[in-house]
Amino acid sequence: MDSETAKPSKYERFKIETKPAPHVYQIPNKFDVSARKLRLAAMLVHEAFEFKLNKEVVLSRPCIYGVFGGRFGGFKPLKHKCVGCMRCVQEYPHIMTVKQSEEYKRLGDSFWTPEAVFTIWNEASTARIPVKGMGYKGAFGGKGFDGIWTDMSEIVRPTRDGVYGREYISTCVDIGGKLASVDFGKIDRSPLAVEVPVPIVFDELPTGDRSVREAVGIASKKLGTLFVSHDQTMGDLGRNLVPIVDENSFDESIEKKPAVVEYHAERSDLFEKLASRLPSSIVIARIPLREDTGTVACELAREGVHGLHLYADYHGQDYSKETKHVSASLKEVHQRLVKEGLRDQVTIIASGGITLAEHVPKAIICGADLVGIDTTVLVALQAEFQGETRDRANCQLKPKKIDPAWGAQRLVNLFGVWHDQLIEILSAMGMRDVRRMRGDIGRSMMDAELREQSFKGIAWAT
Ligand code: SF4
Repeated sequence: MDSETAKPSKYERFKIETKPAPHVYQIPNKFDVSARKLRLAAMLVHEAFEFKLNKEVVLSRPCIYGVFGGRFGGFKPLKHKCVGCMRCVQEYPHIMTVKQSEEYKRLGDSFWTPEAVFTIWNEASTARIPVKGMGYKGAFGGKGFDGIWTDMSEIVRPTRDGVYGREYISTCVDIGGKLASVDFGKIDRSPLAVEVPVPIVFDELPTGDRSVREAVGIASKKLGTLFVSHDQTMGDLGRNLVPIVDENSFDESIEKKPAVVEYHAERSDLFEKLASRLPSSIVIARIPLREDTGTVACELAREGVHGLHLYADYHGQDYSKETKHVSASLKEVHQRLVKEGLRDQVTIIASGGITLAEHVPKAIICGADLVGIDTTVLVALQAEFQGETRDRANCQLKPKKIDPAWGAQRLVNLFGVWHDQLIEILSAMGMRDVRRMRGDIGRSMMDAELREQSFKGIAWAT
């Protein structure tokens, strides 16, 4: 992709082509369904008479999802079909037990909950928005992104209009700097910008697996988004590649003339070299989020960098001495840039800990223009958790052998379903353009702040 081809010549409604991409590796059953056999037998005898020995009816009741529809009915339930609606337990509490399976409870690590892993698997496989049903039974506040609520006060408008396409809501974002002022005496095409149709890119992955990279390359091309990587040997798939340039890969990158390049900000000499050798490219500095990132970001923006890729670890914690969540650090950097009058000169990409669809709008509300996803990609491709995934240099997610075409479809599905959920939130917030959401913390509520305001000074009885 280059800056010219990135701009569509005619109006086209953005659409993500999703289709089922079932799991290749078997996933554990979420629920463990069991029946007390003697009581079940007694009940079946009773029901056999009631339903005039109609085997199909007797063996399938009371589950409409077909869990008891196998050859042995409730004696050998088809556990993979159970959705946990609890109807069988409510109707036959003396016979049925339904609980979460032990295998399910072991999924993920200290950050990735079994629920989050399951959500990504199912989104990548079916491209459908997860429906919880039975009402929400969990907590309404929590840490990190769970402590941010969006203002849905515009929900009186039909929120499905955006999803079904009756109303167009733009999810396009520009990567690159904007002009601080216009000089009419000078015709100057800079600064450059590349437009991506969704505010999500693929960040560098903690694996060198060729098939995974190929899947990411194909998906980026189909989606019109970008993928960031040290590896530049992607052939035709590399057109959407954002190379991370260092001294070893400098000459190779210059030769390929990518539309967007990244470099590690501590290599301060690289910016000038890149800017002079690649005057038509967008240059982005990668910076770990920590206490001084606001100051570094302002310096880089003044030097003329077009974008900042701010990253936390894979659990969404920054690298400060007293670690903070990526959302809090991001807000600090964004507000510092706003205060210094530099915010519009740079694009902010945020990555680390973006693992669910709702994290995208929440990171944007905290000041990012767009986000990068990393371990989420591997989870969608059914990689195996072999320990903790937090450390960027030692992430314990091991990719399994995959077909790149299957992998690409899973990633397209994931983007499709995240895109739908983003549109749903934008609809409910009464916004027609995701760019309007950037840094709009006035349209969000922070759990910690509300607790402080509501309960400060009130003594708790112990
Ligand atoms: S919990 Fe619901 S889905 Fe699961 S077996 Fe019982 S009735 Fe069927």
